[in-house]
Amino acid sequence: MLSIKKILMLCGLITTTQVFGLPQDSRRAGGIAVIPLTQNVTEVKYNGLPVLVTQPNSQRYAVFGIPLSTPVGTLELQTNSQPIQIEVKDYKYAQQRLTVKNQDYVNPKQEQLDRYAREAKEQNDIYTSFTAAQWADFPHFIRPTAGKFSNSFGRKRFFNGEERAPHSGLDIPAPVGQKVIAPAAGIVVGTGDYFFNGKTVLIDHGQGLISMFCHLSQIKVSKGQKLSQGEVLGLVGKTGRVTGAHLHWGMSLNNARVDPQLFLSP
Ligand SMILES: [Zn+2]
Repeated sequence: MLSIKKILMLCGLITTTQVFGLPQDSRRAGGIAVIPLTQNVTEVKYNGLPVLVTQPNSQRYAVFGIPLSTPVGTLELQTNSQPIQIEVKDYKYAQQRLTVKNQDYVNPKQEQLDRYAREAKEQNDIYTSFTAAQWADFPHFIRPTAGKFSNSFGRKRFFNGEERAPHSGLDIPAPVGQKVIAPAAGIVVGTGDYFFNGKTVLIDHGQGLISMFCHLSQIKVSKGQKLSQGEVLGLVGKTGRVTGAHLHWGMSLNNARVDPQLFLSP
C-alpha cells in the first residue's frame, strides 16, 4: 500500500522526505540534504567546513545545509573516503516588496555600513564555529513562539523598490512582549543589538547547527548560558529593520542559512 505522502511525492507535489528524528530532506538552495553514510565515512566537509554527522545508531547521516546561493546542479561534499555528490533541484522562491520608513535601512550611511560589517563578522564567526554535540540523537525542534506564519524563507526582497539580500529566516508575526523560547536545547553563543537584526540571540545546538532570534524587544539570556528546550530566551519586538512586530527565526547548518520549517514535523 502506498501512503498518501508517497503518492504525493510520486506526483511531484511534495519534494521532501523525512527520516524519523531528523530534519526533512529538501535538496534545493536553502534546503537540507539528509544523506545516509556508508560505515567507513565518519567525516564530511563542504568548502573546508565540517558538516554535521549524526551519532551511529544503526545508520549514520550527514545533515548538510545547502547555501541559498547554490545554483541548480550537482554539488560535491568531501569525506574521509569517497566524495559524495548531491543533486540540487530548482525551486522558485516568491518575491516580496516592503516599505520601510527609515531610508537608512535601504541605503545605510558609511558609519552604519561600518557597524554592519563588524556585526556581520561577529555573527559569521558564530556560524562557522563547530563544537562537539551535547546530544546522542539529533535534537527535536519545536516552534519558538506562537503565531500563524506563511512561508517567508528565501523570498527575494525589495526594500522601497531596491533589491536586497533574500530572506534568510522564517517570520512569525506576534505581538510585542510575547515569549520566545529555545526550540531545542543549546548554549547561548551570542547576544547583541544589531543594525538590521535588532536585539538578537544566537544558540549553538552543536556541530555547526545554530539558531537565531531577531527583532526582540527584550533579551532574557546571556552569553555562555545553557538552555533547555522551552526555556524563555527573550520577548517578541520590532527592533532593527522591520515593518511590524514579529519574530525572525533563522537556522544555520555548516554556515548555510536553511529553511527553519524543515526542522518542524510536517
Ligand atoms: Zn525576517
